[in-house]
Amino acid sequence: MNYSPVVVFMLKHLKVAGCDVPAQNILCTPCDRTRNFFSQAHMENTMVHELMHMYDQCRFKVDWNDLRHHACSEIRANNLSGDCRYTRELRRGFLSFSKQHQACVRRRSIESVAANPACPDEATAERAVNEVWDSCFNDTRPFDEVWKFSLPFAFLGDDSNPIP
Ligand SMILES: [Zn+2]
Repeated sequence: MNYSPVVVFMLKHLKVAGCDVPAQNILCTPCDRTRNFFSQAHMENTMVHELMHMYDQCRFKVDWNDLRHHACSEIRANNLSGDCRYTRELRRGFLSFSKQHQACVRRRSIESVAANPACPDEATAERAVNEVWDSCFNDTRPFDEVWKFSLPFAFLGDDSNPIP
């Protein structure tokens, strides 16, 4: 995954933040599941998602039992990783893309928080996501600004490159 510019970018920022991630940490966990990934881009999104969590853990000392902390990191990871790319919507125009993207980030974040053993039910997960939404959705560190598509989007390939 050293060829992926967005992964290299995240690793560089983890290092700058004082959290050097050893190569085996990246290569083992997500790649064991390689067969489940339907494309290179999908795998890359998932890695960036996990690297975003590592970045938050490193920079902000996330307490994963605090559902608002967890919600915030999920919002950031889903927003910035490319998990919620809608290429077709993008062609149709920014507004539609923006709404779809936000709905996707919100849905995925609620799902992840609801899976936290510290979370009693989905309503609680939804509340946690709503409470931190504005500040966390707009916090795009270490990327400059998600809407410019300069960083992660320009880097991410399309889904036409399936892993054999
Ligand atoms: Zn996550």
